Amino acid sequence: MAPTHEGQQSQAGRHQEVGHKSLLQSDNLYQYILETSVYPREPEPMKELRELTAKHPWNIMTTSADEGQFLNMLLKLINAKNTMEIGVYTGYSLLATALALPDDGKILAMDINRENYELGLPVIQKAGVAHKIDFKEGPALPVLDQMIDAGKYHGTFDFIFVDADKDNYLNYHKRLIELVKVGGIIGYDNTLWNGSVVAPPDAPLRKYVLYYRDFVLELNRALAADPRIEICQLPVGDGITLCRRIS
Ligand code: SAM
Ligand code: CA
Repeated sequence: MAPTHEGQQSQAGRHQEVGHKSLLQSDNLYQYILETSVYPREPEPMKELRELTAKHPWNIMTTSADEGQFLNMLLKLINAKNTMEIGVYTGYSLLATALALPDDGKILAMDINRENYELGLPVIQKAGVAHKIDFKEGPALPVLDQMIDAGKYHGTFDFIFVDADKDNYLNYHKRLIELVKVGGIIGYDNTLWNGSVVAPPDAPLRKYVLYYRDFVLELNRALAADPRIEICQLPVGDGITLCRRIS
């Protein structure tokens, strides 16, 4: 049945609420994906965490439900067991990961903010997957440096999801390429940066979008030119670039 005019309006409204969570040009199409394929299959704990996060003032940062579904499927497809996440917030992508891993799977999760992680933690605990998570509070870069120095973590990660400070992505990449195993995947999130990667120079962009845009552009160029990886940039959420280490 074709949606009514009123229906179209409210759907557009809902898409606005999720902000840059999808770059699809049609609000109705995005809503169709969510309502047909994502929400009906979303695990109950993820729904609970998504609804809890929606009430938080910084909810623009959360991973969208369709991207959560994608990550969950990807992790299962590659049989991921040992993983890392940089940028947890309230834990939606973390929970999507934890639910995908086997019972003895591991996630090293890092964020400078423990409070937001603890907001979602009860839901993660209730879902019975908290034992897979090793949360470290603080900036990720020094932890990566320690792991590089220790030597024993080289080539040990099946999957690494990077969703934190965009101005550090290239610094992360330098280290993560050593830590991910050959054949493993690093996923860099927000690589289309609210569509701003193609915005004209005089486009009226929000301050934080403008500030990080050059870093995202630089990252995208560097990843495309890096012979150590194969890449695939997907227009899911705000853009995610999958990098498969080949050497
Ligand atoms: N993946 C999360 C989700 O699914 O809800 C969203 C992460 S949010 C976009 C970015 C997070 O990165 C914030 O929680 C922020 O505190 C964290 N962050 C910022 N700088 C960081 C750093 N240097 N090291 C670790 N985490 C950092
Ligand atoms: Ca993100």
